[in-house]
Amino acid sequence: MLFAGMLVCAIATRADKIVLKNGRQIVAYNVSEDGDKIRYETAAGELSIPKSIVDHIEKGGLMPVTESPASAAANLNINPPPMEATANAAEIDQAAVHDGAIDREYIARLEGEAHGGNAKANEKAALAHHAAAQFELARGDMEHALSDERTAITYLPEQPVLLMNVAYLYLKKSEFKQSIEYLERAKRVSSDNADTYKLEGWAYYGMNRPDQAVQEWKKSLALKPDVETQAALDKALRDKQEEENYKENESAHFQLKYNGAAQPALAREVLHTLETHYATIESELNYTPPEQIGVVLYTQQAFSDITRAPGWVGALNDGRIRVPVQGLTGVDSELSRVLKHELTHSFIQQKTRGRAPTWIQEGVAQWMEGKKSDENAAVLLQIYDGGQAAPLGRLEGSWMGLPGDVAQYAYAWALANVEYIVETQGMGDVERILDRIAAGGTTEDALKEVLRDDYGDLMRSTAEYLKKNYGR
Ligand SMILES: [Zn+2]
Repeated sequence: MLFAGMLVCAIATRADKIVLKNGRQIVAYNVSEDGDKIRYETAAGELSIPKSIVDHIEKGGLMPVTESPASAAANLNINPPPMEATANAAEIDQAAVHDGAIDREYIARLEGEAHGGNAKANEKAALAHHAAAQFELARGDMEHALSDERTAITYLPEQPVLLMNVAYLYLKKSEFKQSIEYLERAKRVSSDNADTYKLEGWAYYGMNRPDQAVQEWKKSLALKPDVETQAALDKALRDKQEEENYKENESAHFQLKYNGAAQPALAREVLHTLETHYATIESELNYTPPEQIGVVLYTQQAFSDITRAPGWVGALNDGRIRVPVQGLTGVDSELSRVLKHELTHSFIQQKTRGRAPTWIQEGVAQWMEGKKSDENAAVLLQIYDGGQAAPLGRLEGSWMGLPGDVAQYAYAWALANVEYIVETQGMGDVERILDRIAAGGTTEDALKEVLRDDYGDLMRSTAEYLKKNYGR
């Protein structure tokens, strides 16, 4: 975080707007609350005004991508219950996976024995495939884990733990319909397992069906208290309550909800703008998202109540595009830019099944909305040459906890790296990098395969690009 201090004046080029109750507006940097005062910086230095005269503050368009249902599901803290112990389960475990590898010969032998139709033999074959699946899951190999777990089910089609494991793997892959299919099968066999309802809640949430998610989570909590399920339920209920009075509209690729205070004409214009951007991004990234994209337009107050996002967040994308549109009657260039940025997140999220690191998400989203490094180049170079640039590996996770000034640096650096890739190699390389990330590889491996660069090489090339194109 060494770079934070020196960035404040240099990169804070995107100003916030303080709107007073009397209608006057103050354009300022680094607006913060301090007790009953609002502090801010202008060219004249640091100033403060009483909070009581401020109506609201419009933040300057920093837009993080937050956890989507897909990535929330991927990080679920859930352990499907262990399978009922049979006499030789531990023995089969050890025989199926040993010395850091799966013993396929052993598993094939058990399968051969199972083909006689003997119940005990079937169970042994299922347990062996289940052990293999657990081993593959632990190594992050979802495809093979799923394949082994599904094979296990062919030997024990009514074993709820196996059904839940398959459902869990589909959920992790954001394949929600398949997940629900297996959860329903698990329920038919055993209807009182809280985790089945918990997983199904997430699957419906991922499909943008919060009402059904709420039902499932309530059933889960009635069977067993669970902090994570309670938090998910609370968030969904906040959403539902807010949206109950919302109107709806839709277009070919979007489902839009908006507060009654907004004009239907604005909603139509937003949909039209989104469809235009959709066509552009679709051809740039050579990808069509399979699912309709949810969009919610809020008043400013509702936005912060519902999203609980840090104060510097302008709009966000947590699986649905959420945009505050307070006081707008039409789509201006700023709102159009925000919509394109957030829509890019939806494309990347679906293209990579929620696996894209934050720096690529934000870099590409800013590029798509039309940003260039411009005035940020000089300070980025200063930081890079001073050996203080954050390694891109550290910008892979969530940025929601970053202080505003550090986040500004992260955005600028993410854009610079993506700008370098697009300007020198073309958008095709970004597309190929995203495809490799989608396939399950690490981001750095994807860079090595497509650009023949590791993170260090990419940062060096980006610094050279900035020097050449923006001078010093
Ligand atoms: Zn963003």
